[in-house]
Parts: sequence; structure tokens; C-alpha cells
Amino acid sequence: MHPAFTASKTSIKLRGEVVPGADDRQKRIPGFDQEVFSKSHVLCIGAGGIISQIAPTLVRKGIGTITLLDDDIVEPSNLNRQRFYIKDVGENKAVALAKNLIPECIVATQIRGYPFRLEEAISHRCLACDVAICGVDNNPARVAASLFFRSKNIPVIFTAVSRDADHGYVFVQDKDGPCVACMFPDMVNDDRYPCPGTPAIADILQGVGALAVYALDTLVMNRPRTWNYRRVSLSDPNLDGGSMIVQRERCELCTYDILTACEMEFRPPEALRGYRQSRLDRIPRRVRSTFGQMGHERTQEER
Ligand SMILES: [Zn+2]
Repeated sequence: MHPAFTASKTSIKLRGEVVPGADDRQKRIPGFDQEVFSKSHVLCIGAGGIISQIAPTLVRKGIGTITLLDDDIVEPSNLNRQRFYIKDVGENKAVALAKNLIPECIVATQIRGYPFRLEEAISHRCLACDVAICGVDNNPARVAASLFFRSKNIPVIFTAVSRDADHGYVFVQDKDGPCVACMFPDMVNDDRYPCPGTPAIADILQGVGALAVYALDTLVMNRPRTWNYRRVSLSDPNLDGGSMIVQRERCELCTYDILTACEMEFRPPEALRGYRQSRLDRIPRRVRSTFGQMGHERTQEER
């Protein structure tokens, strides 16, 4: 459940300033390529708890462009863990975070904040990037992100933390190979959104955020990674772990042809006789409606 949007739906574009010498220490890290990093574009889906632990670090490392998407507004209960201040309460999260990142810059980072959910951003066409980081708190948006960025050949880093704030994970969905539902099959049919008032605290978010930031380096430059799934627990190191998950046979999500489905959604029923039965029926209805809207908008534009 999202509170009603009260701030204006205005996007923001800002640019950081170069601080000579600020990158001196990290340039010495084996495999870290400042030039590549400072040409890379990261898109953050969400600008709340997890992204608050990721975006400031990316900006301090000198990311080239960072785009933030969130339709939520800042509330006092966010201030224990999110990169907001009392001045930001009532403002859109993506826009407020974009502003708060400016003093963190060490290069001329382009910072963009859009007050949209992922599904809205798809129709606004503001999703170009090298890597997306999914920092939302619900599975419908994770499914949408997996499908959309797979269709664009863009890797996605998925993040999540448990409700008791003890453990969390990072899953790296590359351009091809296993998708997030190969790891979590139940995600595809999970329509639940977290209730307002779900517990949340900074420490586990920081642990997961660190893994996500590192995963980004491995996708844009030559820092090593032998995992695509990594789990961390604060209370028990025996629950920590990592592995290279393989593609699951008959995975509903990564065998789903999104563009064909969008096109089919708005064709006349007689053109789909037989075809609709065999293809669309195995696709979850919710996933169809999200991307059906995208197909609908594309059809309208073409007219
Ligand atoms: Zn899959």
C-alpha cells in the first residue's frame, strides 16, 4: 500500500561537481576501473531503505549517471534508515534523494529523479541504463523488473531483506541465464504487498546494500564474482552463503516472451483464436496486465 501522492509529479535532473583527488584510494583497488565506472549508468528501482544504502555509495565512487524511480513520499517513519532529513518529509522520495546525493558527488555525476513506479516509468521511457538495481519491497515489481530488463538485455541486481530484519539476499540476473524466478519460483504468482508498518532498520539494509554495490562493480568491470545469489544473516553466520544458481527448466518467467504478449493483448480476439489459448493462458494475469498496458500505449502512439 502506497500513501496517496501529494507532492507534484515533477522530475529532477542534477549534476555533481568534480573533487580532484577524491578517487585516489579506490583507483588502487585491483580490478577497479574509474574511467569505466564513471561512464556507467545505473537505474535504481525504488528510493527507499535499500537504495538509501546503495545510491550514496555509488555516487561517492563516482558513478557516471544514476537514475532513481519511486512514486512514494517521505514520511517521518523513514528517517531511521533512509537518506532523508526532516526537510524532505512530504516530498517525493526519488526527487528528494536526488537532491540529497549532490553533496556526496566526487565526479560530475548526472543524477535523475523520477516520481514514478517502474510500471509508469516503462511508459515514460526513462529506463535506459547499463545495470538496474531493484530495491523495492514487493514481488509484483520484482517480476516486472525481471521481465522488462531481460527483454532489453540489461542485467538486474535484486535485493531483499526479511521482515524480522535478520537476513537478506542479493540476486544478480544477468543479460541471459537464470532469472530471479529461477531462484524464487513462488515469486511469479505472489501478488502481496507489505502492510504499512512492517518492521525496518538500517543494519541489515547496509549488509545487503554492500553486496549489491559490489555486484555492480563485477557487472561493469573486472572485479571477480563466483556467485549470482548471496545471502547474509546478522545473527547466525551458518545462515550466510552464496552460490551460482542455474537456469530452472520450465521457469515461467524467463521463458515468457514479453513483446509478443504485449502485442497479442491488443489484437482482435478473432486473430488470436487458438493462439491465445496456447500461449497467454500460462502467463499470470497480473503480469499480462502490467505489460499489456505498455503494449496498449505503444499501439496508441503508432496510430
Ligand atoms: Zn527463470
